[in-house]
Amino acid sequence: MILTINCGSSTIKYQLFSSDVNQVVAKGMVARIGEDGSYFEQEANGRLVKETRPIPSHHAAFDICIHNLLHPDYGAIKAIEAIEAVGHRAVHGADLFIESTLIDADVIAKLEECVPLAPLHNPPNLIGMREAMLLLPTVPHVAVFDTAFNQTLEPKAYIYALPYSFYEEHKIRKYGFHGTSVRYVSQRAVKVLKRPLSALKMVVFHLGNGVTVTAVSGGKAVDTTIGFATFSGVMMGTRSGDIDPGLIFHMHRQLGLSPDEIEQIVYKKSGLLGVSGLSNDMREVEAAAQAGNVRCQLALDKFAFMAKKYCGAFAAVMGGLDCLVFTAGIGENSPTMRQMICDDLQFLGVELDAEKNEKAIRGKVEAVISCGETAVLVIPTNEEKMIALDTKEIAGL
Ligand code: ADP
Repeated sequence: MILTINCGSSTIKYQLFSSDVNQVVAKGMVARIGEDGSYFEQEANGRLVKETRPIPSHHAAFDICIHNLLHPDYGAIKAIEAIEAVGHRAVHGADLFIESTLIDADVIAKLEECVPLAPLHNPPNLIGMREAMLLLPTVPHVAVFDTAFNQTLEPKAYIYALPYSFYEEHKIRKYGFHGTSVRYVSQRAVKVLKRPLSALKMVVFHLGNGVTVTAVSGGKAVDTTIGFATFSGVMMGTRSGDIDPGLIFHMHRQLGLSPDEIEQIVYKKSGLLGVSGLSNDMREVEAAAQAGNVRCQLALDKFAFMAKKYCGAFAAVMGGLDCLVFTAGIGENSPTMRQMICDDLQFLGVELDAEKNEKAIRGKVEAVISCGETAVLVIPTNEEKMIALDTKEIAGL
């Protein structure tokens, strides 16, 4: 079996897959590590357990994960040897990793090098790798990078038009995120459409709390909306998306806001929340707009407008468009937002089948929802499965 681990600063999420990666055998989480109210939960064999107890460290949290997987009543395996390989989500691999990689001391050292680029995410990822390797020292561990899929961008796409030394000396360039999700759904789209990968020009809309739109041509990322930090591109739940960078200076110099305050504003107080003044949750914003809330309607209009603009831009960059893919919480569940983004894109061959669009919700099923020349698909994302599939391949299982 293959264990996947997503280790954050205070949370560990894990899934145990059957060896063929067709089945999730167990799924669990340890949360609020080192904080008040820490707890764990696990679902396996139809049993859900949840318990609140002090969990002071990641070390203790990993002990709990393994203990729960092995538990005689509610566990999933009888012996730890059932775990044949471990796949780790790694957030930032900079330009050092273009694909998933077997973890060894050299990989760990390179990931350390990437810490300044993802100071919030890479340190807990590294803790996760070290702890899991201590507990399961004899099996292969594989790192799957969120940034790897976008490493196929050409220099003209990833370079910022700053003095070149910023790229050479400080690694300042576009990296993009959500690459594991985009890779998974674009591979699934090829299967659903039964068309050769090399011939497909896709725009993938990963619309969750975080939002990424990516141009994928012949299976390779050509451009993507998130750049160096994680707030460019389309507006998100609480992040602004594209703004004029000059605003940052204006907010600092004329409005007297500190860099920390500005960072809080563009990451935590903007996006759907900022424009609507009500919520960062698309469901609430849609419901309020339906009831006549003008600011919520504006938030929806702005969201769709920004996403649509990237669709046009990416079709231009790829020199055509064969397929749109919607995924993640909003992309999988909001017929309203899918319709708003696709409206007026007939000139690109995009036309939704209204009934199929309405039906494609919460089913976690893959669906074709278009009736025009350009296929429009809803594909539920599954980053854990992608991690498990890579791990299986790299571990040679
Ligand atoms: P994350 O990026 O944290 O993984 P998700 O992919 O779960 O987030 O997406 C969360 C977003 O999906 C929220 O804005 C939520 O409102 C939205 N969402 C979930 N279900 C629906 C729905 N039925 N209709 C509209 N939006 C939805």
